[in-house]
Amino acid sequence: MASDWDAAAVRGLHDELVSLYGPAERDGEHGSDAAEPGEGVRQLVTTILSQNVADENTRRASENLFATYADFEAIEDAPHDELADVINVAGLPDTKAERIQRSLGAVREETGGAYSLAFLDALPADDAKAWLTDIKGIGPKTASVVLNFHFGKPTMAVDTHVERVSKRFGLVPDSASNARVHDLLDEIIPDGLKYPLHVLLIRHGREHCTARSPDCDNPVCDRHCDCQGC
Ligand code: SF4
Repeated sequence: MASDWDAAAVRGLHDELVSLYGPAERDGEHGSDAAEPGEGVRQLVTTILSQNVADENTRRASENLFATYADFEAIEDAPHDELADVINVAGLPDTKAERIQRSLGAVREETGGAYSLAFLDALPADDAKAWLTDIKGIGPKTASVVLNFHFGKPTMAVDTHVERVSKRFGLVPDSASNARVHDLLDEIIPDGLKYPLHVLLIRHGREHCTARSPDCDNPVCDRHCDCQGC
């Protein structure tokens, strides 16, 4: 463990972020593919579309995709260039089309024909994450989003804001790779705080701890940050 942060300190940080921004609540209960067949796969496909692009473009690409194809089988079987064109607004269309079709193929093969991630619900978080990240093009962030947002599993999704703020707070070492930051935050953040801290650290990264000109004059940083960025 490279960090001095323990669970009590992380809880304190969470509480102070809540004081500054308000609580981070989920839109609803997490899902289960047993109850809603295919919803986990839909989350996976949408998360692939969201890689390195703004939310609005993800939304438009997702709408195009699910309006164009009747089901996941049609998406997997679509001609590559056609699919890339349909999701073009999400950027990196060739790469994302390949990742989507590869992922759908992996799910279908694992289940023996169904496009459902229900089997992940029964696995421990680490095993479920390992299954997803074994698919080429699915990294720890995409896997953690699917497992935490859809299945409610204790996996911390680390985007660029979460990684930057976590490093400046000293939650993780500056030198840690993105994959290592995922592992370290999964270790030190109590399970029930993984989703709210994901949301709150992004908010802090957008509103105060921006990449180029951080606004360090805020009560959370007064207490928690002694980084060199101030
Ligand atoms: S003190 Fe400044 S650089 Fe450090 S975490 Fe806060 S906003 Fe970021």
